[in-house]
Parts: sequence; C-alpha cells; structure tokens
Amino acid sequence: MQNLLSTSELTKELVMELMESADSYYDLANCKGSSNELEGKILAALFYEPSTRTRLSTETAMLRLGGRVITAVGEEYSSLRKGESLKDTAKVISNYADVVAIRHKQAGSAKEFAEGASVPVINCGDGPADHPTQALLEAYQLYRTFGKLDGLTIAYIGDLKNSRTSNALLKLLSNFGGKAKLLSPPSLKLVEESKYEGIEYQECETIEEALSGVDAIYSSRVRVEYFDDQSEYERLKAYFVLTRELLETNCPDAALLHALPRIDEIPEEVDDWKGAKYFEALAGGVAVRMALLKKLLCS
Ligand code: ASP
Repeated sequence: MQNLLSTSELTKELVMELMESADSYYDLANCKGSSNELEGKILAALFYEPSTRTRLSTETAMLRLGGRVITAVGEEYSSLRKGESLKDTAKVISNYADVVAIRHKQAGSAKEFAEGASVPVINCGDGPADHPTQALLEAYQLYRTFGKLDGLTIAYIGDLKNSRTSNALLKLLSNFGGKAKLLSPPSLKLVEESKYEGIEYQECETIEEALSGVDAIYSSRVRVEYFDDQSEYERLKAYFVLTRELLETNCPDAALLHALPRIDEIPEEVDDWKGAKYFEALAGGVAVRMALLKKLLCS
C-alpha cells in the first residue's frame, strides 16, 4: 500500500487487515500509552481546511507510535496562497517528512498532491469528495460493536448530498453487502453516483421508516460550508432531529454514529443513551490511524 487517497482503494481484505491491526493498538490508544514502532519517522500534517478530530487524532496516532509531527494549518499561511501548486508543495514537503496527511477544500487535491510526493500521502478530506480515514473509523466502531461488517443495515440520515463522510462509509461498506436506508431533506439527497454496487438502497420518507429494523444509524450534519443562502441552511439544519424518544421507540438496539461535529441533529440528551457510539468511536479513530501509519511506513 503506497498511499490512501480514496476510499475505493480500501478492498475488503485491506479493511479487515486494518481492523485487526487497529485491535492490536486499541488499548494503547484508549489508555494513552505509547510505543516506539515509528521512532525516527516524521508525519507532516497539512490541514488547509478546518479540522479538530482528524488532524489531532492523526497526529496523536503518530506520536503514540513514537514518531514526530510537523504541521501546517490554514492555506492563508502557506505558499499555496502565493500561487504554489499542490504538486510543488508536495515536492518540497517530501524532503522533510516520511508521510503526509492532507486536508484541502478541492475534490481530488490529495491525488494531485500525491503526484508530486515521493512519500506516502493520506487523504484526510478533499472537499465534498471523500474522507477515507473517517470511513475506517466508522467501520472500526461497527466492527467493534457487531463483530463483523458483512450484511449490516444502516440508516444514513441528514445531508447526503454534501456529506463526504456518508459517501465514504457507503463506498467502504459496499465491499460487505448489506442495506442502506436513506433519509434526507429533498434538496440534499444522495447523488446517484454515490450509490455503489453491492449495497441495496431504500429511500425513506419518514424518520420512523428510516429507523425501523436497522443495525446502525449514520447521522450527518447539514454542511453549512456548501450553502450560498444562509436562510436555506437555517431552514434545513434541524430538518431531522434524532431525539431519544424516537431512537428508543423505533430502534432500541441500534448503534448511533456521527462523524462530528453534531449541530442540531442529535440533541445532548442522546449522549448517554446505550446506542450512542459517536464519542466512543474516537479512541478507535486513533487506533485505526495508528494501523494505517504502520502499514504505510513499514510494509
Ligand atoms: N469531521 C467530518 C469531516 O471532516 C464531518 C463533518 O465535518 O461534518 O467531514
């Protein structure tokens, strides 16, 4: 494995290998321990778009494996703002780091960066297009919860048009069969190109219909960054709210995932519901990124 640029590179075999490797790192990640497996290696974390979890958990993963981190945050403080191409930036940074994690607003940016890089590159979110390590995090939480990824029925609820995270999870799980129940405001429906072979799709009309019979729910925020009209965003941002009552009534045994940040779609009252897994998933996010860094740097 040379890079991780797109979720489509995550074959079933590779996903399962990373899940098993993440298991071996989970205690280290969860108990905040460290090892020296990547001692002497340097990660360059280039985050040209806002990030809290992906940046800090990728950096944490590197540090817990004994590596070190250099960071560039915000395009306005980089040479990209002076007109440097992503490819040239990649040629430069390949002289400093052993691996690069990049987030950038442009779809295809990680791929363009990798064309200039001579070290492994991890796509940590390229605009609305993809977010493979978030898909690995969600898959790992599903794997920990259900002991498998095959054949799960998942309700995808929220802004499915602009959500790179829902799109990425659908793509990853298309290796494992199962069913996707889709529920979004009419203007934010999943685009046809994001309906992958290998999954059975069902468009839902109501929240009750979407929740019934599911193993898990993947909720996503309405992505404010893709709205020109703020009043339209305000109208849609709380279109589907997963209250505790709705969850307890319609899917009492389901697992609830969310890439975070949540805005209005999951009220705080749900946080201590037994199915709420979105904060629990964070330690797994470090473990799975440790597994990925190890794979990229040592095989
Ligand atoms: N943190 C995730 C992302 O970067 C989800 C979100 O922002 O809504 O895509």
